[in-house]
Amino acid sequence: MSYTEDRSTWLEGQGLWQHVPESDWQSWAWQLKNRITTKELLERYMTLTEEEKAGCEFANKKLALAITPYFFNLIDRNDPACPIRRQVIPRAEEMLVGADEMLDSLGEDGHSPVPGLVHRYPDRVLFLVTDRCAAYCRYCTRSRLVSNAQDYNFHPEYEQGLRYIEEHPEVRDVLLSGGDPLLLSDKKLEHIISRLRAIRHVEFIRIGSRIPVFLPQRITPELCEIFKRYGPVWMSIHVNHPKECTAELKAACERLSFAGVPLGNQSVLLKGVNDDAEVMKALVHRLLRMRVRPYYLYQMDLITGGSHFRVDVRKGIEIIRALRGNTTGYAVPQYAIDAPGGGGKVPVNPEYVESINDDEVVFRNYEGKLFRYPLKKAPGAPADGAIPFTEVPIVVY
Ligand SMILES: *Cc1c(COP(=O)(O)O)cnc(C)c1O
Ligand code: SF4
Repeated sequence: MSYTEDRSTWLEGQGLWQHVPESDWQSWAWQLKNRITTKELLERYMTLTEEEKAGCEFANKKLALAITPYFFNLIDRNDPACPIRRQVIPRAEEMLVGADEMLDSLGEDGHSPVPGLVHRYPDRVLFLVTDRCAAYCRYCTRSRLVSNAQDYNFHPEYEQGLRYIEEHPEVRDVLLSGGDPLLLSDKKLEHIISRLRAIRHVEFIRIGSRIPVFLPQRITPELCEIFKRYGPVWMSIHVNHPKECTAELKAACERLSFAGVPLGNQSVLLKGVNDDAEVMKALVHRLLRMRVRPYYLYQMDLITGGSHFRVDVRKGIEIIRALRGNTTGYAVPQYAIDAPGGGGKVPVNPEYVESINDDEVVFRNYEGKLFRYPLKKAPGAPADGAIPFTEVPIVVY
């Protein structure tokens, strides 16, 4: 049964690690310590293809290889095209660099007033607090700095970043990211969040994290207490394929939700992973069932070595069109392209409006049927300029 048909199963269990005591399995320290980080370790558990072997040799120079045992269990070891496998096992294609590809495709370094802080939009900042993740996504936008395989030497300067935010009253929204902020200790995280909460003009605190997906064991009651204490803290998780929606992830989302953390999801549109309307529909339905609202579907950034993941934008638009109207409105994410060079996120939508003029707008619904909506003034409405709006008498009924 495929994941687009089977709506009832939520994967769970220790899989290949049956022999490990459950207390170890449930410990995030154990999961991190036992990550698969080399080609030799990978080969202990599975047969790699030639492309994967070559990719593993190259990984240390680009973006480290690391997979938690929990996430490794989701890989179909007999299927070289497994959508989970493609996300975390390096491939030879990562060595290819296309003409339009860049190391810092979003121009983040140029928008950093202090190291680790990106201030691109008027009212909000991206605060990169670590360069480490629980596992590494082969298509990572920040692979230039994440995992430090490229000797980028990223040193998060919390104090400098916090001071910048304190001194800039226009910053009302702070997005903690990295790397993965939830890889910090509770103590460090509490320090950063409590400092942010103490800044009067910071209204909105959010975290971007793939930890619930790679390492749900990290979502401990103690961590949830911090979110309760300093909340509301919003969180965007990062799920790309319905198979990632396991019983463990569902339970982790539940713990976060019950601690008052509103959850959203950001997916990256990836060739061979989720570039298919049925797969995407299965994913967004599972997200809703886990109390997670699909937020963005990103066109993949123009990072180096990403050509084998890149999907035609027209395909992305087609996927959104297939969702809209055919499923719950809450389930439809906003498809967006982060403009290369640093223009920010730009929504990309299917076109529903056929024509618009002073008289009418003509549009299609989700079934492709045509409708019109008149724009002429309704009979009885005041003619243009008759009474200025501010002087319209207030009528009390
Ligand atoms: C994505 C991003 C944000 C947040 O954008 P939203 O559309 O508000 O979610 C903020 N700053 C930077 C630099 C970003 O890349
Ligand atoms: S979790 Fe996020 S930051 Fe870390 S490797 Fe994946 S995409 Fe990059």
